Amino acid sequence: MGAPERTCVGCRSRKTRDQLIRLALVDGRVTLAQGSSRGRSAYLCPNDECLAKALRRKALKRAFRAEARDDGVRELFAQEIAVREAVS
Ligand SMILES: [Zn+2]
Repeated sequence: MGAPERTCVGCRSRKTRDQLIRLALVDGRVTLAQGSSRGRSAYLCPNDECLAKALRRKALKRAFRAEARDDGVRELFAQEIAVREAVS
């Protein structure tokens, strides 16, 4: 038994949580999940391609089962990737 896996909403591949960026829905906006934020989550691989696929297929709205404003998410996502690259 390994770590529990989650599915990337962009490419649908399964990875462990620490290999994915976790997104949450806060007040109708998609944002990066903070620590143990509760509620529904969506996971994405840390690359622009998966985000682009998810946005194109409206996969975030489906994952959250709600109207999800994703207009700020590209920037947050890019920042998160930069942070991860800086520490690794
Ligand atoms: Zn992916």
